[in-house]
Amino acid sequence: MFEKNQPIDVVIIGGGFSGSKMAVDLLQNHQARSVVLIEKNEGMIGGGLAYGTACADNMHQTNLPASRMKGTSYNLDFDFLSGFEDKFSPDRRKVMNRREYGEFIKRRLARMKARYDDFQIIQGEVHDIKEKGHFNIVSLADGTEIKARHTVIATGNSELKRLPCLSDEVLSDPDIAERVTVNQWDVNEKSKLKNIPRYGSVLIVGTGLSGDDAFRSLLHSGFRGNVIMASRNGYRHFPYRNKHKDLKPYRNSVPAFMWQIRAGNYSPKEVLQSALNEFEQLTGIHVNSETGQLRRRTLWERASQTIRPVPYSSEEVLNDWQRYVPEIAEFLGPKEFGKVISHYGALLNTLRVGAGYDVSREIRNAQKLGARPFLSIKAANLMDVRLSSAGQKLNVTYKDTETGEEQVWQVDHIISSLGPNYDFSHSNHSLWQNLYRRGYASTHATGVGLDVNKNGLLAGAKTITAIGPVTAGQRMLDDGIIGPPAYSVPGMSSSIDRAREAVAQKIRKSVSRNQGAAPKLSPELERLKYAW
Ligand SMILES: Cc1cc2nc3c(=O)[nH]c(=O)nc-3n(C[C@H](O)[C@H](O)[C@H](O)COP(=O)(O)OP(=O)(O)OC[C@H]3O[C@@H](n4cnc5c(N)ncnc54)[C@H](O)[C@@H]3O)c2cc1C
Repeated sequence: MFEKNQPIDVVIIGGGFSGSKMAVDLLQNHQARSVVLIEKNEGMIGGGLAYGTACADNMHQTNLPASRMKGTSYNLDFDFLSGFEDKFSPDRRKVMNRREYGEFIKRRLARMKARYDDFQIIQGEVHDIKEKGHFNIVSLADGTEIKARHTVIATGNSELKRLPCLSDEVLSDPDIAERVTVNQWDVNEKSKLKNIPRYGSVLIVGTGLSGDDAFRSLLHSGFRGNVIMASRNGYRHFPYRNKHKDLKPYRNSVPAFMWQIRAGNYSPKEVLQSALNEFEQLTGIHVNSETGQLRRRTLWERASQTIRPVPYSSEEVLNDWQRYVPEIAEFLGPKEFGKVISHYGALLNTLRVGAGYDVSREIRNAQKLGARPFLSIKAANLMDVRLSSAGQKLNVTYKDTETGEEQVWQVDHIISSLGPNYDFSHSNHSLWQNLYRRGYASTHATGVGLDVNKNGLLAGAKTITAIGPVTAGQRMLDDGIIGPPAYSVPGMSSSIDRAREAVAQKIRKSVSRNQGAAPKLSPELERLKYAW
């Protein structure tokens, strides 16, 4: 506890992009007198999972161009990342090194720490938050407690998706566990990659950006064997256009399916089909609404006079549709809307998420015959993982999505790359278990992330706010951002600002109720301060 039992104004859990932005903006805007940022892993201060030195190697790049990674606050007269232009020359095309970006944020935090006595960054893993009247008590794993007027959860991408065939039970066999990387961004787990034979075989589970990340790690570690990337549909996202034009297909009009929704005489299924038809007209990408399969229009179809040329990228169309999403969600209701999203989740990710050209080029090159490492991409449903009879390899039983046949791959190593999980109701972490048990946290009606209001306040709490990826469900309803862009730097920044304004208002009220000097760190917490 603090001297004289004084509470800290704002305690922030998680020192990645979201927590750092919250802390810096609160302090710079003089919206909180005392701020404590708690981060469990020193290598993640500033960068978090995506850009932290603990996770991102030098070859990892951002999947958005620098021009979109600034995280600017819309209503402040300073920039969260001031000096960004000098460092990264935010070109509309150029992507950045993820690690450098994280280190840049970390330096920004260090400058803030030097400037504000009442800003501290401490090491610890939060296991519980308990509300008490107008305050709450944040408990760390070692039993230390911090009293706060308000707590902000910015724990980001800490939970990862995993297939049942790679469950804890399966991995309880140490011979299997040493051949499976469950968290490709965990420093200790990464060391397993060194044991893979140079010309061996690796299965990457997931064909999205996390899979790309894993492939890059292998490529740059000198691995030259065979890589299979597999997911149920085998979808690959399209690379960003080299020249991103940011065209707006509906600058002066409204999409046809919106008229149907407004007229109210179409079923959700018909509206969806109408949207997909329109999507095909604009992008030339045909989506089968039953199977979700994608097909680019053939040259013959494109050349035919009945079909317009294809001027737009899927990203441009979906960006422009974004402003109608809240209205569509209202029409369908959050639950039905959530179902559509979960059904088309992989497809939307494919259509929305781009990769930088460098990454895409590496992937394409590796698919060419004779390339080392050689990469093949498969649509398959993985069913079972066992040690081979000789005990040297893993036998992976899968069902080929196209043929329906059951087959077996024999590989030296598996990397699980399905990306973050935003359903916390079954989490093994005591923080989530406690928040659900106490009724502060509940799952959002769309099934994605936590139930929060527009400002991120947890539905069952008065003094606990969440920001960042854990609020993705509400972001869809409020801002219309669907899929990974909802957890990206440009997608999250304005909602973090909204949350900050609301927290600042609450603090003002709480401080005026309980006047007093800003608290000093207790000797107990002084001990946990990061040294830098
Ligand atoms: C590999 C990867 C690459 C990405 N690349 C991009 C990109 O190029 N561009 C883009 O815009 N978006 C990208 N994203 C999206 C990313 O979600 C956001 O850009 C952003 O980094 C999220 O930041 P965050 O602070 O909310 O979460 P995180 O970065 O996940 O940070 C959360 C922090 O909380 C800490 N923490 C968690 N639980 C606790 C606890 N109980 N106690 C204490 N500390 C805790 C973690 O250690 C971590 O440091 C990427 C995501 C991933 C996973």
